[in-house]
Amino acid sequence: MDIKEMYLSFEEMMETKAKAKPYAKNLLLWEAAKIGRRQIEGEVPLVWTRCTFPAEIISAFGALPIYTEMVGTVLTIMGKTGDVLKRTEEQYFSSDSCSIQRAPLGAALEGGFRIPQLLIGSTDFCENGMRFFEHLSQYYGREYLLVEVPFEYSEDSVSYVERQLKEVVNKLSQVTSTPFDIDRLRELVKYRNQTMRYQVKINELRKKIPTPLPGRRCGDFLLMVDQLAGGESILEFTKRFYEEILTLSKEENLKEEEKIRLLWIYAYPIGLSEIFQVLEKEYCAHIVMEDLSHIYWDEIDEADPLRGLARKMCQSYTVGAIERRAHQARSLAQDYNVQAAIHFSHFGCRYTRGGVRILKDTLAQVGVPLLSLEGDCMNKENNSPGQMLAHVEAFMEILSQ
Ligand code: SF4
Repeated sequence: MDIKEMYLSFEEMMETKAKAKPYAKNLLLWEAAKIGRRQIEGEVPLVWTRCTFPAEIISAFGALPIYTEMVGTVLTIMGKTGDVLKRTEEQYFSSDSCSIQRAPLGAALEGGFRIPQLLIGSTDFCENGMRFFEHLSQYYGREYLLVEVPFEYSEDSVSYVERQLKEVVNKLSQVTSTPFDIDRLRELVKYRNQTMRYQVKINELRKKIPTPLPGRRCGDFLLMVDQLAGGESILEFTKRFYEEILTLSKEENLKEEEKIRLLWIYAYPIGLSEIFQVLEKEYCAHIVMEDLSHIYWDEIDEADPLRGLARKMCQSYTVGAIERRAHQARSLAQDYNVQAAIHFSHFGCRYTRGGVRILKDTLAQVGVPLLSLEGDCMNKENNSPGQMLAHVEAFMEILSQ
């Protein structure tokens, strides 16, 4: 598979779409496509990383982060996940491992990306991601830095991560031959904070009954925002998205009937659009929030950006005991006034699947039933759409009584 060709087609497709319908989401995808092109062409130093590491630190050195999750999004949109997953299986990677991480690995093994200067990961819930980066590091012959984020949140934990971020900064300075400019980092952090304020405002609007933009469209947008290192442009698109939702939230525009409000837990799957249509059209069941869209971190301290970013990493619900994630789900269920939750239990993910029972019990404490939908976010081969739909319909029938 030709990765370069795929990215060029993606850019062309998104440009056409954004020009025809200049909605924030289309513009954001076009921006993602432009960033993607720079990952395969040009001179800007590249750093592979994952969604739990802050882009600002990498961008402060003029380098471009490649987020595995964003590569996965492009592969999904372009319908190429099957090809790259096959590639990994041919190279003895287990088909039982997570496709969200394995698909980008397969894309990298296709050889289409420029060689990165560095790989940076962090210890969070994603064991697959940590391991695959070890392989990528060997494949590219480049160093892999793994930031250890302590299990418990405390000021000592923040200090510990901050010290490691200083080491990352030194290494980035070395591999990019660029001195560390703290004012540049402050500026990027300022954009991130401003973007975050719009994300919070968007999520506030979603609390309205009925919710202004039901379904997965909000979640799809918000998840991308955190995986793009665009600084000012990402801020602009997020502001635009907020304004679009603000318009939709006006009384005269709130047309859709809403009978059931749902919290979606974990990622959205591909190729299962029928499930979302059935939820909305047949049951007037609206997804009003996702746990992944929740802003769990405090504003990043612009005066002391490395410590602020260390704090953000430590505050992540992807770190620590499952209770952190469960309590967050319970608060969201209450704040967004949902009647039920759907957990997408992704194939090969020990962390998310392993925690389902605790999530179910925690949500039950506030009277919110949970359906665990088992499938694969990226690999259609692991999905049984008919069976999943039957589970969703049975769950909806119970809720509708
Ligand atoms: S599903 Fe699990 S294994 Fe896969 S990327 Fe997410 S945390 Fe990692």
